[in-house]
Amino acid sequence: CVLYADASSNASPTAVTIKECSNPVDRKKRILVLGSGWAGVSFLKSLDCTLYDVHIISPRNFFVFTPLLPSVTAGTVEARSITESIRKIVLKKQNVKYSQANCMNIDSVNRKVLCRPVADYLEPGKNDFEVEYDYLVIAVGAQANTFNTPGVEKYCHFLKEIEDAEKIRESIVDCFELAALPYLTKEERSQLLHFVTVGGGPTGVEFAAELHDLVYEDLCKLYPDLMPFVNIVVIQSGDHILNTFDQRISHFAEQKFQRDGIEVKTGCRVLEIQQNAIIMKEKSTGKKVEVPHGMVVWSTGIGTRPVIAQFMNQIGQHDRRALVTDEWLRVKGCENVYALGDCATIEQRKLLEDVAYIFTLADKDNSGNLTATEFKEALDSIRERYPQIDLYLKRQHMKDVMKILDDPQTYGEGERILLDVEQFKKALSKVDAQMKALPATAQVAAQQGEYLSRCFNRRKKCEVEPEGPLRVRGDGRHQFHPFVYKHLGQFAPLGGEQAAAELPGDWVSVGRSTQWLWYSVYASKQVSWRTRALVIFDWSKRFIFGRDSSR
Ligand code: FAD
Ligand code: MG
Ligand code: MG
Ligand code: MG
Ligand code: MG
Repeated sequence: CVLYADASSNASPTAVTIKECSNPVDRKKRILVLGSGWAGVSFLKSLDCTLYDVHIISPRNFFVFTPLLPSVTAGTVEARSITESIRKIVLKKQNVKYSQANCMNIDSVNRKVLCRPVADYLEPGKNDFEVEYDYLVIAVGAQANTFNTPGVEKYCHFLKEIEDAEKIRESIVDCFELAALPYLTKEERSQLLHFVTVGGGPTGVEFAAELHDLVYEDLCKLYPDLMPFVNIVVIQSGDHILNTFDQRISHFAEQKFQRDGIEVKTGCRVLEIQQNAIIMKEKSTGKKVEVPHGMVVWSTGIGTRPVIAQFMNQIGQHDRRALVTDEWLRVKGCENVYALGDCATIEQRKLLEDVAYIFTLADKDNSGNLTATEFKEALDSIRERYPQIDLYLKRQHMKDVMKILDDPQTYGEGERILLDVEQFKKALSKVDAQMKALPATAQVAAQQGEYLSRCFNRRKKCEVEPEGPLRVRGDGRHQFHPFVYKHLGQFAPLGGEQAAAELPGDWVSVGRSTQWLWYSVYASKQVSWRTRALVIFDWSKRFIFGRDSSR
């Protein structure tokens, strides 16, 4: 493969196109991966790269272990300890190339993308190049969502990238040093030491907890006179913080924050950020309130990256927040393009739309009625396609239906019950209400990456149906496994060596032991032995010497 200028390219007058020059018949298919985050890296790690030519394009030549980003803001963990070079990750793989560039435009008709190298000294647009692909894997993630609130871009920190975390750390130290300058009034000191988080989701809460630990475990020894002026505030528009978690966890977090003196303002909508103050509206009273701040961290959720928004317009997916894919992660409306992670969302099938068809499949003897066994078999065979069924059963709505079916006294095994198509519909009518888009988490992104790589690894073996892993159904037809998300639980570290966790099977665990579980899970999830060792070293260092507060 060589680089040469392609004059026919119309995307940019100076763009260079990277093309395959070997014999097109026996050349390997090229997979182009956009992004080096959770989804992209987990795809690469499990991909059998001997089967393909792989090209990764990302503006960042490293992977970030995002769950520990809040720890970097307080210096509990160093930035370098949670990053791993993408070149190192693919070092032992064959046929893998990496280019440090931003994808600027996706052309799914001509199967190529336009890229712009990342380097400050290059003139923007002068060094653009195009890359052709056979398969495109889009894993560019999302960006912080400001909801067009005035002043956010200018005065707030985001917490999304490693640079953000480092800037926040500097900014905290700056606030303390500024407040320690002589001749300041009490009001000025208090304003400087008012630390505000907008957004009461996991990221905002974790940041507030880390900041609290930094201030009351380490900075209090260095700036004892400033302690009365410190305020940590979390602003949340909903009624509770951590509202995607189990209620018990959300309450535990609120109580812990209250004990710690972290102020939680719920039911408040931020209208504007000014240099030294936040203007917000209390939903209950409708009153405008002003909160002073020395530093604001904005973490209210995610929005679409411009390149994805532009691509969605091209392929007719207007007004969506993320690229819509089917359950095999194929982008709807184009061929050989896959999307995963935060930039994508899976369109789930509605059970009710297919219910008549499912009924005819389940009713094997065409009697117009289902037996108890047939009904149960039908549910078992479709629960993979319709994950809402499991959610429904878990919430026990179906208890009554299942009770009748499970009772052999009333209905002998295999005996006919009066369940015609209308009753079948009725029994399942509320199931679709359980449909929920998958959360934008590393857990989802990583599972999707691994799933997709498995599909690509088996593609050669499945020449007949070259789309993914095959399963032969009872009727002899080939059917591919769709992507199925397995929720393994989630953690919320709350500071002071306390954490809360939601574990599979409706388990909730809080307290000190949960924090140790958190340490062990997060150490084991590291991408490499190097980062694992560094993270454990950082934690131990913090236990012995405390956090470093130099700028
Ligand atoms: P990302 O990991 O964001 O990766 C996107 C990649 O695409 C990056 O490499 C980026 O540089 C690259 N890119 C961007 N634009 C372009 C472009 N134009 N062209 C090419 N490449 C591009 N999830 C959990 O499950 N548990 C947690 O505890 C947790 N904690 C979190 C804490 C914080 C502070 C944050 C910010 C997130 C946390 N998450 C957590 C969420 C998790 O990080 C995301 O869901 C996950 O990163 C999504 O993976 P992704 O690959 O889609 O995107
Ligand atoms: Mg990614
Ligand atoms: Mg990442
Ligand atoms: Mg998603
Ligand atoms: Mg029947």
